[in-house]
Amino acid sequence: MNASGSAEDGKHRSLPAEFELRGAPSYSFPAVASSSSASVQILVNKLLENEWRSRSEVKGRQFGQLQSLLRFAQGHSPFYADRIRSCGLDPGTMGGVDELQRVPLLTRVDLRDNFEQIKCRELPPGTVVTEELATSGSTSSPVRVLTTNVTALMWAALNVRDHVWAGLDPHGSLASIRHFSRGDHPSRTRQGVRLDSWGGTFGACFVTGPAYLMDISQDVEDQISFLLKANPDCLLSYPTNLEMLGRRLGERRIELPRLAVVLAVGEVLPPDMRHSIEAAFGTPVWDLYSSVEVGYIASQCPGGNGYHVHEENVLVEILDEDDQPCRPGEPGKVVVTALMNYGFPLIRCDLGDYAVAVEEPCRCGRGLMSLKEIVGRQRGQLLLPDGRVKFSSDLSVAFRDMGQIRQFKVTQHSRDHVGMVIVPMEGFADEDKRKITEEFHAFFEFPIRVSFTLVSRIERTPGGKYLDFVCNAT
Ligand SMILES: [Zn+2]
Repeated sequence: MNASGSAEDGKHRSLPAEFELRGAPSYSFPAVASSSSASVQILVNKLLENEWRSRSEVKGRQFGQLQSLLRFAQGHSPFYADRIRSCGLDPGTMGGVDELQRVPLLTRVDLRDNFEQIKCRELPPGTVVTEELATSGSTSSPVRVLTTNVTALMWAALNVRDHVWAGLDPHGSLASIRHFSRGDHPSRTRQGVRLDSWGGTFGACFVTGPAYLMDISQDVEDQISFLLKANPDCLLSYPTNLEMLGRRLGERRIELPRLAVVLAVGEVLPPDMRHSIEAAFGTPVWDLYSSVEVGYIASQCPGGNGYHVHEENVLVEILDEDDQPCRPGEPGKVVVTALMNYGFPLIRCDLGDYAVAVEEPCRCGRGLMSLKEIVGRQRGQLLLPDGRVKFSSDLSVAFRDMGQIRQFKVTQHSRDHVGMVIVPMEGFADEDKRKITEEFHAFFEFPIRVSFTLVSRIERTPGGKYLDFVCNAT
């Protein structure tokens, strides 16, 4: 595919050069009351320009955005008024971004227990709250956040930037298998649905080819029939679903002849999973790192050097177990401040993901922060009987390598008991259970009790996500 989807192309070539700033004067990026294609297009151009600034200039501008956000949150959110005062931070006079470390991390529990207090009592002119979103955690109760017209505009513009970076040809066809929330949406049928345009922002900004939508709740065989009919240029889905689809296509020796790129969204994509999806489909995978709470966080570097953070939207910190900044190259937890949400500030939000930051400037020349890889989710951690915590990635690689498991879900019920639900391949036998048990014993360094349940399919969470490791042990 060619990078023909640049922001200068498409039907909105002749937009006014100047942008009317009707949002908060404190926004460093344009804000308007709608995410119409014209507004999105202008913001996309700003973003595509900004990414080529020097690293220090990008950081300087981001610091200005951070100060504006902190001042606003302090003035209008009771939760942050208290939090920022208690930690002794003065957003107006702070000398650098490192002073942000005085503000305590925002946990899911904070979010759950302080919803009303976090909300800003007033909004900047031109800004309105547009949506209340609920996110589900693996072990905790759902968390609610509010989004505004400005965060929606940023979401839309970053969607376009991501697709431009991916080099997607908008004239091609897109098949999208994901969660669709409306109960009566035609994508929820076994046949899925065909639309004339990709829809959404991309469809509003560019003339596109058709889109084929199917809900993630459909069985893998129905998904394959749907894809064979659609014969798409581009396929979008969740990594775990892509892996399962790829495996089944391989078993049945089916190819999708037009497919040029696979877009992975919604879940973290570990390197081994990326390789297995790329091998199965015979195409590169384009990975997007985002969260319901803060929107777009990072997309792959168009030059193939890891990921770049969308720093106009989020400030990302990588922290160690003591909440201190990691050295470059050291994996640490991802802590995110959403710079554009003035309705429901999310300052130093611990997302439960892990990543590795890179210090050196990227060879592609972009000034945006680089991440080498996104390592995994905290929810992918398991608890050893002696209290240590280990990432589950060794186990997932081992289970994949066994070749007898189509899909699995591991739930650690307690320190000495783990349950595993398996969708087995043909030929799965007691011998495989024995091997799996050995893997668990080696991983936990303890003869942990393992119980098995064999099923024909594993349901996703209500939000369409699929969690392969869940730890309920304390
Ligand atoms: Zn780069």
